[in-house]
Amino acid sequence: MTFFCGVVAVTLTEEFDAGLRREERDFIGRVKTFAQEVVHPAAKEWEYTRRVPVEVLREACALGLGSVELPVEWGGMGLSFGAKVRMAEELARADLAFAFSLVQHHNALVRIAESAPAGVARRLLPGLLAGEAIGCTAMSEAGAGSDFAALATRAVKVDGGWRLSGEKAWITNAAVAGVALVYAQTDPAAGNKGIACFLLADGMAGFSRPGAYELQAAHAAGVGALRMDDCFVPDEMLLYPPGSGFKAAMQGVNRARVHVTAMNAGMLRESLSLALHYGEQRRAFDQPLLAFQGLAWSLADVATDLEAMLALAYRAARQIDRGEDAQQAAAFAKKFGNEHALGGIAACMQAMGANGLRADVPLARHLAAAKLLCYTDGTVEMMNERLVHLMRKAAASA
Ligand SMILES: Cc1cc2nc3c(=O)[nH]c(=O)nc-3n(C[C@H](O)[C@H](O)[C@H](O)COP(=O)(O)OP(=O)(O)OC[C@H]3O[C@@H](n4cnc5c(N)ncnc54)[C@H](O)[C@@H]3O)c2cc1C
Repeated sequence: MTFFCGVVAVTLTEEFDAGLRREERDFIGRVKTFAQEVVHPAAKEWEYTRRVPVEVLREACALGLGSVELPVEWGGMGLSFGAKVRMAEELARADLAFAFSLVQHHNALVRIAESAPAGVARRLLPGLLAGEAIGCTAMSEAGAGSDFAALATRAVKVDGGWRLSGEKAWITNAAVAGVALVYAQTDPAAGNKGIACFLLADGMAGFSRPGAYELQAAHAAGVGALRMDDCFVPDEMLLYPPGSGFKAAMQGVNRARVHVTAMNAGMLRESLSLALHYGEQRRAFDQPLLAFQGLAWSLADVATDLEAMLALAYRAARQIDRGEDAQQAAAFAKKFGNEHALGGIAACMQAMGANGLRADVPLARHLAAAKLLCYTDGTVEMMNERLVHLMRKAAASA
């Protein structure tokens, strides 16, 4: 059986790519090659050995995959959000965990370049650009997920800096993080206006990484906790002061919802390709499986969902690149992607019979990863909340 065969029609993606710049299309070509030749063959081993492939993250950074959106003058690729969305999609076809880890690293790096004091940015960026230090963003805690503003990590002002205490939970790249953007409460009475964001670097006294969680999937993303035990953070490492931390965190969320949808679409596309290939080759009752309508129609449903998922993701990406308000488009895309990737990948596994469960077929890995994506960057319930809020607001102003 050929894996990573890519037989599914790609019209929408071709149209989207045609709207990108020439250099962006070339970049996506390099991403595809990297995904197929480097990520895809190793992903099973990363999962089974529960390893974060830092050396491959570094390789990806050397090709510019860790700095797609960073302006050229800061050492990045200077490409559009659309190019990053396509990168996320192509990498997730091979392995969601790797794609997610790289994108989280990228996001931390860009935030530091944009918002850190110049001296701090100059000091941290070279290591991040080279992938020598891996970045992460720590908002969630054991008691604060969907309701991020309820975070309990405390930051207390002292002479020359801040003292941080608390524990972050479910942080992608936590196991290997060299630099972390840590959100903490400076004044519980101020609610979300008291939230600030600090830069913590590996080696700071009182900052520790208890290690990656044991999960059912996606170990290559090194998801785990970060601890701060009375950790002193100098003033210059304050990234977003109280009053702007919550807003800054929320600003990135629409973008995240769109590339998560693209990742879901990447995994679904790959799963459908494999199921179609299997259904054509595998014979039962003297015919290829795909000759049986009862099975083939389930894949037609998957193809329809994939097309809709891509359309929603690409529309939201275009809105973001045009600087438009993409709240609604991003929420539609995230909700649809979460709901339909899960069912679609399961349908592709069903079409492959017991062979869909084999370790050298990525479908079970993709299915578990699609479930993980149901929680990241806002659950389906949170998308519903957002959509209802926007609909009510629109109705009230009509
Ligand atoms: C693989 C993975 C990687 C992650 N990476 C990061 C990271 O890098 N950085 C980071 O900060 N966080 C990260 N997270 C955490 C993620 O952001 C949280 O899981 C998410 O915010 C949901 O929070 P929770 O899991 O605590 O669920 P909870 O908030 O406890 O919610 C539990 C359930 O209740 C529902 N619910 C909650 N509130 C409402 C409501 N008002 N109405 C209806 N239903 C509701 C939710 O939708 C959910 O179904 C990651 C999570 C995963 C799984």
